[in-house]
Amino acid sequence: MDCLFCKMAAGEIPVNKVYEDDTVLAFHDIDPQAPVHFLVIPKTHIGSPAEINAENSAVAAHIFEVIAQIAQEMNLENGYRVVTNCGKDGGQSVPHLHFHVLAKRSLAWPPG
Ligand code: C5P
Repeated sequence: MDCLFCKMAAGEIPVNKVYEDDTVLAFHDIDPQAPVHFLVIPKTHIGSPAEINAENSAVAAHIFEVIAQIAQEMNLENGYRVVTNCGKDGGQSVPHLHFHVLAKRSLAWPPG
């Protein structure tokens, strides 16, 4: 499958890595929307949040553990936002599940 984030997860395309373990990879977003903006992805291909199910949800839960750990290491004690976009109307541009983590500025709500 020709998937950009699968290639990043496999080490075929370099990333500015934040964290890696056997099942997930975190890297700085190439087009940051906040002073801290990184993505956390499963290494296995899940197309979007709409494809999370009983068989693959453990990795999604693990991603949230990883985010909490990274946030502590990055001293994000003022808070942060976790965003996952789903499909066309959700603004998803890369069809491989990813969670944006944005921090170090005050974020408006609701998003546009
Ligand atoms: O939620 P969405 O699918 O739009 O997010 C994709 C994200 O992947 C964007 O924030 C984009 O900047 C990021 N990206 C990246 N490196 C690439 C291609 C996209 O960090 N090579």
